[in-house]
Amino acid sequence: MRYTPFSGDRQQLRRSLLHTGTLPRSRDRANGWDMRRGSAVRLLPFVAGLLLLPSQSDAGNRFVSVPRDYQGTAAAGYAAMSPAECMEELGRRKIPHLSASAEGVEAPIRLAGPMHGVSFRQEHLAADEALNADGGIVDCRLALALDDFSALLAERGIVSVGFVSAYRRDTTGRVPAGQRHPAGLAMDVATFRHGDGTEWNVERDFHGRVGAKTCGPGSQNPVPRSAVSTGLRRLVCDTAAKRVFQLVLTPNYDAEHRNHVHLEVRREIRWFLTQ
Ligand SMILES: [Zn+2]
Repeated sequence: MRYTPFSGDRQQLRRSLLHTGTLPRSRDRANGWDMRRGSAVRLLPFVAGLLLLPSQSDAGNRFVSVPRDYQGTAAAGYAAMSPAECMEELGRRKIPHLSASAEGVEAPIRLAGPMHGVSFRQEHLAADEALNADGGIVDCRLALALDDFSALLAERGIVSVGFVSAYRRDTTGRVPAGQRHPAGLAMDVATFRHGDGTEWNVERDFHGRVGAKTCGPGSQNPVPRSAVSTGLRRLVCDTAAKRVFQLVLTPNYDAEHRNHVHLEVRREIRWFLTQ
């Protein structure tokens, strides 16, 4: 779970930009991005994005996008909600849930039934085990995004999602408070089951390549290509295009993501990252 590809700090990056017009060399081999070869033109969108960003701009990934209409996106709306506002919206949508408690999660709940007919189940756990497992706890803000995600899944005949975990404690000590899995704001999804019983499995069917672009012009095509891998890729990219999650990270992001798609609502940023 590394989202800070730059080896230097932010001030160093700014100094480098302002004084030399170049960026320090990234050590992030997973992104395949050798900064020495970056032309000024190619870097312009990134530089513009960096200067637009508020204090927390640590996603130095070439696939970051900083849309002008960020504030109008669903993801921005969810990220900006207070716990009380979110719980009110959760009730208004009648999203089935149970209250929960987890250290570091501001508005912890458990999903307790299908949304738009789509169930979320934690992989490799029986129902009663899942009820007591921390990995099933999500922050309310993530639940709203998952509700929108479920509507998209339902349109495609998917009836259940298997996830590895949502909440988990920070064992590295490096995750900023209020972010990612330790805040219940991210879920790692591994499988999609259709109404006819067919299952798409990210680890088996994604057919990606670490460092490659996942969606949009110039993106990597699944190799080998199959109906399943193409369908899974389209699902991931349509999910990202809905802009209900700030981060959508696939096996293309790095080897740690080989078996899941990471879906995250991130607060206090103004950008999206799909890879
Ligand atoms: Zn994750």
